[in-house]
Amino acid sequence: MRRKGIIIVVSGFSGAGKGTLMKKLTEVYDTYALSVSMTTRAPRPGEQEGRDYFYVSREEFERRIGQDGFVEHAEYCGNYYGTPRDYVESQLEAGRDVILEIEIQGALEIRKKFPTALLLFVMPPSAAELKRRLTGRGTETEEVIERRLRRAVEEAQGIEQYEYIIINDDLDTCVKEMHSLIQGAHDTPFRNKEFIGEIRSQLEELTKGEK
Ligand code: ADP
Ligand code: 5GP
Repeated sequence: MRRKGIIIVVSGFSGAGKGTLMKKLTEVYDTYALSVSMTTRAPRPGEQEGRDYFYVSREEFERRIGQDGFVEHAEYCGNYYGTPRDYVESQLEAGRDVILEIEIQGALEIRKKFPTALLLFVMPPSAAELKRRLTGRGTETEEVIERRLRRAVEEAQGIEQYEYIIINDDLDTCVKEMHSLIQGAHDTPFRNKEFIGEIRSQLEELTKGEK
């Protein structure tokens, strides 16, 4: 049986450590394809075009929405974010697991379009630690940090829509846990309907005329 790729959606409050986690996960395990999103927000110091995001104007983003260029897109704190369609489709086709680090509206959209997608929600060990990480990153103004924390209050309402929560306390432990959850997800019956169907018909075939 050829192993099929699945989509893994990773969401979590801003500052929970999603970016750090994804970087480490893809360094340690080379099996994952990490989708690079498109956004209208400005690059942060140290971010690189094509590695962290593809940075475009609102006009360009809206033009791509019109061309059905995204598998999902959403607005978050005043900016557009979207997952380019071509990369996701070609990687899945090649049998690779594709990771999307996206917020909840996009996550729910993905689940509608790809029912086998695995939805993971990354949590900080505490709210105080979240604020410390967000402030410690030093990339946002006080005003933007406050806005993102308020947004976290809203996002916290949606956590039960996810299949697993992952607590990002110790980074290495968290990376291992994420990898094992993904591997486990591959073995759930509802993600293997085709294979189960094949075995059933082989069994039927094998037992034909044996009565
Ligand atoms: P997100 O992508 O979720 O917004 P980041 O990956 O940018 O979050 O992480 C926010 C800050 O928290 C960064 O400064 C990062 O170095 C730090 N951080 C991430 N994971 C951990 C961890 N397990 N322990 C301590 N600090 C962490
Ligand atoms: P940031 O500005 O901190 O990089 O991202 C802000 C939020 O947008 C995060 O919750 C991040 O997961 C989300 N995000 C990043 N890319 C995408 C995307 O392509 N689609 C959606 N829906 N959300 C995204």
